[in-house]
Amino acid sequence: MKIIKPVHCKIDVGSRLVLALFFLLHSQFETQAQIQLRPLPESGFEQRITAYVNQMELVDTHEHLMPMEDLKKSMPMDFMLLLHHYADDDIKSAGMGKSEFAELLTDKYSVMKKWVIIKPFWEASKNTAYGRVVLLAINELFGIGDLTDETVKEVSDRIKASYNDPSWYDYILKEKANIKYAIMDVGAQRMEDKMFVNVEKFDQFIRVFSKDDLNAIGKAYDLKITSLDAYERTLEKAFSEAVERGIVGVKTALAYHRILKYENTAKTDAEAVFAKMNKSDAPLSFEEVKPLQDYMMHRIIAQLRKYDIPMQVHTGLHAGDGNYISNSNPALLANLFLAYRDVKFSLFHGSYPYGGELSALAKGFRNVYLDMSWLYIISPSYAERYLHEWLETVPANKIMAFGGDYHNVENAYGHSLMARAVVAKVLVEKVKTGYLTETEAMDVARRILRDNAIELFRIE
Ligand SMILES: [Zn+2]
Repeated sequence: MKIIKPVHCKIDVGSRLVLALFFLLHSQFETQAQIQLRPLPESGFEQRITAYVNQMELVDTHEHLMPMEDLKKSMPMDFMLLLHHYADDDIKSAGMGKSEFAELLTDKYSVMKKWVIIKPFWEASKNTAYGRVVLLAINELFGIGDLTDETVKEVSDRIKASYNDPSWYDYILKEKANIKYAIMDVGAQRMEDKMFVNVEKFDQFIRVFSKDDLNAIGKAYDLKITSLDAYERTLEKAFSEAVERGIVGVKTALAYHRILKYENTAKTDAEAVFAKMNKSDAPLSFEEVKPLQDYMMHRIIAQLRKYDIPMQVHTGLHAGDGNYISNSNPALLANLFLAYRDVKFSLFHGSYPYGGELSALAKGFRNVYLDMSWLYIISPSYAERYLHEWLETVPANKIMAFGGDYHNVENAYGHSLMARAVVAKVLVEKVKTGYLTETEAMDVARRILRDNAIELFRIE
């Protein structure tokens, strides 16, 4: 065995002074971060900015909230309500089986038995932000500091009691979270309240592989789809009906299923795929069907252009174990941004982990917007790091800084608290370093938490 002797280095007094000066300058550089560009603020700015952000009315750009009665029918009202959306991904990532988890969303076991089963996986995964938001929510709503052997029954009882109160949603969303409008991605399960506005998906028109898929769409719209032209007419009918229902945008979640590159396929090529599909008894492969799928994305965008409606695009991370992450890189969409300069695209979820690519796209294309829905519970530090960068790169009228992205209101509220905390922290730092003035920071806060979404989706 070779023994490596430690090296003792001798430093003379002169070198020590140089080193001390280096560390002094370096530490100053760290707190100052950049050259000061604006006058430094008056004392108390931290509290004033934080208070301003905390009282701000939010426009929540993305939710999947289920109507109370539907949610109550879908699972027992116990602590699992808080773990069944997003925390479940990390609980499974930590090793719990999918079917084992699914059983905990039924009434097969008592609350305590459920807790015993899930506890090792919860303990192993509760460090992630998906877990943290649950702890934040129970603390803020019920004053319960942790999920433990002692508290799990109480949390469950409190949830059950809350769901017997018809005003629970209003209390959470309006009073506690101070959400003015929430843009809902829910399909048919709509809630009637003027705070909710809706987007709809047309992904089903793209995600076709077989004759059966085509027939199912035809049946839904009461049309016979025997040619590509007929298929396009069905899409147009579906679109005009959605516009009648008052949609404020279209959402696409196809990043879960395929690559985000949509070539501008010639109609004749799309027709050839359509004919082949219509003749075949078996579904076609993705490679075979891709030209038709790509063609239909361009037709959907043509509808967006016709009605002047923006598109919300899922980019980056997939919930659960989905597609290859590289298939969701937002840079793959650039051909659409170039081809449809007059259609507005809002790229979702801070494109995690492609924050740099998102920055370049939202900066370079006037029709590309940046949406931070889901992001603070994926990683608050990523959100913080990139919000710093996005405020330096992207015009402030194109950033939307909150979307809860939850099935249940309790976690959406916890998420909103995390969003406010990160936005306030970033703005305080921007003012402290002389990048923004206090007034400019407050102007940015109002835009990114409220005004931009109202303007883009023409909600008011
Ligand atoms: Zn979502």
